[in-house]
Amino acid sequence: MSLRMRLQPEAIGSGMTSQRVRDRLVDRLRGGAAGGEAISDERVLNAIRTVPRHLFVDEALATRAYEDTALPIGHGQTISQPWVVARMTEVLMQASPQKVLEIGTGSGYQAAILAALGLEVHTVERIGELLRTARKRFRQLGMNIRSKHDDGRIGWPENGPFDAIIVTAAAPALVDALGEQLAPEGVLVAPVGGATSQSLLVLHKAADGTLSQRMLGPVVFVPLLSGMVD
Ligand code: SAH
Repeated sequence: MSLRMRLQPEAIGSGMTSQRVRDRLVDRLRGGAAGGEAISDERVLNAIRTVPRHLFVDEALATRAYEDTALPIGHGQTISQPWVVARMTEVLMQASPQKVLEIGTGSGYQAAILAALGLEVHTVERIGELLRTARKRFRQLGMNIRSKHDDGRIGWPENGPFDAIIVTAAAPALVDALGEQLAPEGVLVAPVGGATSQSLLVLHKAADGTLSQRMLGPVVFVPLLSGMVD
């Protein structure tokens, strides 16, 4: 674990944000929480055990941070459900990535999980205020995460290609630019679908550049939107 976390009292947590409560969430994920598939990658479970999710939500919601549910983070956006974060991360880790791109920083929690796994994380967010708050959290935890305020549908071409790409907002179809920024033998995971019905798309790029895809189960994400907001 490459996470150099400064153990300030608020990061350690207490009561409903304590390590014990975090461990209980990990036990639920391992057991197949919320009727979802069990999470078995110990590296991923360890990252969830380590990263203080309560620091990625408003203080008023901190006591709910270790429930397996999405929570509001303002601007009509949500921090994803821990099971979804774990599942998508598990899929990415199968490609043994080093350099990863996330579209939709939001609270910064998913990016922090990837950083805790020792990956070189690049993340793009279209809402400036969410990105500024996420950057403060990365600094507070001593995490070196590269981030950009932009419309992530163009990816981050100057820094590509990426061994793995994770999109955390849903679009009716995969954006071409992102598939192009995927390295050979890379994997992309993205929710695809409309407002009412979405599934997780997993795209593999073979060594010769051939793309193949499979669909995992249903998920619920906020929409991938165009343009930027301050
Ligand atoms: N990964 C986040 C999930 C946040 S919800 C977390 O762990 O908290 C999805 C995020 O995607 C929102 O913050 C939303 O503003 C952002 N988003 C939506 N469309 C986007 C786009 N085109 N480019 C970048 N970010 C986008």
